[in-house]
This record gives sequence, structure tokens and C-alpha cells, in this order.
Amino acid sequence: MSGLAYNRVLLKLSGEALAGPLDFGIDPDTVNGFAREIAEIVGLGCQVALVVGGGNIFRGMAASEQGMDRASADYMGMLATAMNALAVQDSLEKIGLETRVLSAITMREVAEPYIRRRAVRHLEKGRVVIFAAGTGNPFFTTDTAAALRAIEVKCDAILKATKVDGVYDKDPKKFSDAVRFDRLTHLEALRRRLGVMDSTALSLAMDNALPIVVFNLFAPGNIKRVVLGEPVGTLVQG
Ligand code: UDP
Repeated sequence: MSGLAYNRVLLKLSGEALAGPLDFGIDPDTVNGFAREIAEIVGLGCQVALVVGGGNIFRGMAASEQGMDRASADYMGMLATAMNALAVQDSLEKIGLETRVLSAITMREVAEPYIRRRAVRHLEKGRVVIFAAGTGNPFFTTDTAAALRAIEVKCDAILKATKVDGVYDKDPKKFSDAVRFDRLTHLEALRRRLGVMDSTALSLAMDNALPIVVFNLFAPGNIKRVVLGEPVGTLVQG
């Protein structure tokens, strides 16, 4: 008995989270803090895969709204996620964790290519696997990459780290009477457009019975609480 609610997790960190208090880029103290929290759950025997976003550096949609070709802009966004992946890898390695970056876009000088079986093997060996470059396809998001990779490498859940402490029926920053859900089904989240993840990611998770835990990343110790099965945030499950 490991005492863990989830033995293998996929933690989704947005690019914005890595920026911490900054408007743009990567805040080293913030990333080092996340690394320490990840090290704690690895120490508990949890196998950890990460998908990092890129919104702190570049977003394809925003650039295309300013006239850039959407596919080209999205490839730039995917390259931004690779930069974030290397930053997270550096922080994790500085505190003694073994890591591998696996990229959906081949860049063999800086990362291994994504090979599913290899990813699984790394996880089994206790290495933190960081998936870079999203799905490798434009018109997708890193949330969808998180759902896809979690299903492929058989994670028990996606841990979707956010700035708020779960999923609400309306924006808690705008409405003081917003109500937080403890539990929710994928279908309810989709129907009510609750913004857990984008609809592609959510439907992929729903069709493959993959639970999603939405929780506040900025409350210290939360990642560990989720992995230990404490009632943190919102559990999205079919
Ligand atoms: N992106 C993409 N395909 C993917 C994943 C990401 O084209 O499979 C691009 C897209 O342009 C997106 C950017 O990479 O805007 C950064 O990812 P995302 O916006 O999901 O990052 P986050 O919001 O989590 O920081």
C-alpha cells in the first residue's frame, strides 16, 4: 500500500504560473518553488509527468489575432513551451531529481523525441518526464497535450494547477456569490462551459475516463495533498 490516491500523475503547469509575479517570462524563484513541491511527491513514490504551457512567452491565438498566420504562430507557441520545459528541468535537477524532456517537435540537441514507450520507461524508473512542444500540432493547446499524454502513458489523473482553488459556477473574481464545486462530471463541465480545460481536452479526458483535479497551485503543499487524496480543489470525474 503506497498510501497514494494517484500513483502516476500528469501535472499541467501553465506558462503563466512559471512567470510568478512577472508579466512575462520565467521567474526562477517561482519555478524553484514548484520544483520543491514536485520533489516532495516524487519522494512519496508518485510517478510524475509534466506538461508545461507557453503563455508566459508566446500564444499562437494572440499573435494570429494581430495578423500572423495561425499555424506559424502556434509553432512559435510550441517552441515557447520547450523553453519552459528546460527551465523546469533545470530547477528539478538542481535539487537532485532525475528528469527527461521529451519533445513533440524534434530538437535532438536539447530534448529526446517523444516516444511513448520511452516515456513510460522513464516514469517507471522514477524520472520526472517533462513533455515539451504540446501535441506537436497547431490549433491545439497544452491542456489537450496534457490530456493526450496522460492517456497515452496511463496516468491516474491530470492535476490541473490554476490560480483559483477549484472550479466555480461563475468567475469568483467577478461574482462574490460564485459557488465552488467539490465534484463535477466531465459532461457537466462541458455542458456548462465551466472552463476546467478547453473542450477538446475535456472531451478527450471524458471519453477515456481520466479524472482531472483542478486546484490552486499557489497554496503551498497542495500538490502533495492532491496526491494523498485529500479533498483539495474540484475533482472532475465521470
Ligand atoms: N500550442 C499548439 N499546439 C499544442 C500546444 C500548444 O499550437 O499542442 C501553441 C499555441 O499557440 C498556444 C501556445 O502553444 O497558444 C502555448 O500553449 P498554451 O496556450 O496551451 O499555454 P498555457 O496557456 O498553458 O500557458
